[in-house]
Amino acid sequence: MNRYPFKIFGRSEKDYWRDRSGFEVPSLRISLTSGCNENCFYCHNEGVPKKMTSVIQTGDIINNIYMLREYGLKKIKFTGGEPLLFKDLKNLLYKIRHIADADIFITTNGTLVRKRMKDLSPNIINKISVSLDTLNPDIYKFITGKNLLGEVLSGLNMLKKNGYNIEIDNLLLKGLNTDKKCLNDIIGYCSENGFSLQFIELSDKTESGIYRNYYGDPVKILQKSGMDFNSLKSNDRQFFKINGAKITLCRNVKDPCESSGGRCSGLRLLPNGFLKNFLYE
Ligand code: SF4
Repeated sequence: MNRYPFKIFGRSEKDYWRDRSGFEVPSLRISLTSGCNENCFYCHNEGVPKKMTSVIQTGDIINNIYMLREYGLKKIKFTGGEPLLFKDLKNLLYKIRHIADADIFITTNGTLVRKRMKDLSPNIINKISVSLDTLNPDIYKFITGKNLLGEVLSGLNMLKKNGYNIEIDNLLLKGLNTDKKCLNDIIGYCSENGFSLQFIELSDKTESGIYRNYYGDPVKILQKSGMDFNSLKSNDRQFFKINGAKITLCRNVKDPCESSGGRCSGLRLLPNGFLKNFLYE
């Protein structure tokens, strides 16, 4: 069969079809498991039902990445449940680094970092995001149902010593972690340790009772605590700096299509092995 179109333009057949279809998948979010070792009262488990069977294996993930790299895959993010519960993590990360030229991110609750440290590598993982809503042990236990704040902090310490790029994810829960002291504590902790900090607005998709009780407008919360940032910017992410800490305010996305300029075509790989569109359930 004559394949001259690809020879003429010096492009591969795969590039040709990708360009013809205009189909791109810049990001892949992989829920490695639906299980978690914590029990946060607000948990929506990334939209993955907790009872979903976690059957996905390293080979399935590699096959998907192998296919998607032909469609411009640039970013791979591991989530859960708790992704550090995935047993074959070391092998998986190593294999991905060898087949794909994509940035790798992990979002974790941080409680298992110490135990899984030998399976992680700062040369493979571009950023590790650790959920940490408070530095107060009692509030931490109330939120997560577990007494594991010490584990998280020692895990963070190890990540820092090993040169990881670290971000702290702090969900704003009105009346729990939004007073001036709580906010200043977490900002101080991040700035002392050189961690980025992301304040997150409680999702309007959270169970209604929880949303009613704990939702607070993040702009008002941060301004009330004397934080100075550009509140007029209308997109879903706002960046500012306090005492050297690099802070992001991550807001609910009102219109996913508009927010991404109609370009977002990331996919999600679920623990049961199914691929789904990133934004629309
Ligand atoms: S750590 Fe994350 S996945 Fe686990 S219960 Fe909390 S919010 Fe849910």
